[in-house]
Amino acid sequence: MKNLNDLLQLGDPLLYQISEPVLRSESDQVQEWVSDLHNVMEEIRAKYNFGRAIAAPQLGIMKRLIYMNIDKPRVFINPQITSKSDEMFELWDDCMCFPNLLVKVKRHQQITIKYLNEDWETVEWTVQDDLSELLQHEYDHLNGILCTMRAIDNKSFKWRA
Ligand SMILES: [Zn+2]
Repeated sequence: MKNLNDLLQLGDPLLYQISEPVLRSESDQVQEWVSDLHNVMEEIRAKYNFGRAIAAPQLGIMKRLIYMNIDKPRVFINPQITSKSDEMFELWDDCMCFPNLLVKVKRHQQITIKYLNEDWETVEWTVQDDLSELLQHEYDHLNGILCTMRAIDNKSFKWRA
C-alpha cells in the first residue's frame, strides 16, 4: 500500500512524462492503484487540509488514471477532454506534489470529459467552474504538465504559509 512518502515532489522527472493508457487486462491492478490513490489523498487531507482529486503519475504510477473523491469516489480511466469552453477564468491553483506553492493559472470555465468508470462503462460528464479546473489540472498530470507550467506570468506564484 502506497503512502504519503510515495507522492512525487516538484522536480521529479516522472512528473513531466506522458502516462500510458490503462489496458483492459489491468483491471485488477486498477483496483489496487485506486486504493493507493485513495489512501495517499486521505493522508494529504489529514496533513494539509486540501485534496479533492489525484492523478496516478503523482505516485509514479505512469497510467492514465484519475481518482476524485468529493461527494463520492469517482474513477476516471483513460479520460479525454472532448470539449472546452472558450470562456476562461483565473484561479490560484495548488498541487499535492508541492503543497505550499500556489500558482495563478487560467482554466476553461466548462469542459466535457469522456472516460471509463471502474466498471469500464463509458461516461461523458460536463462540468463547470471548480470541477472543471480540477479535472483540467488532473488531466494535465497525465500529459506530464504541472500547473507551474501554466503560470499566467512570472509573478503568478505565492507561498502558502
Ligand atoms: Zn497536481
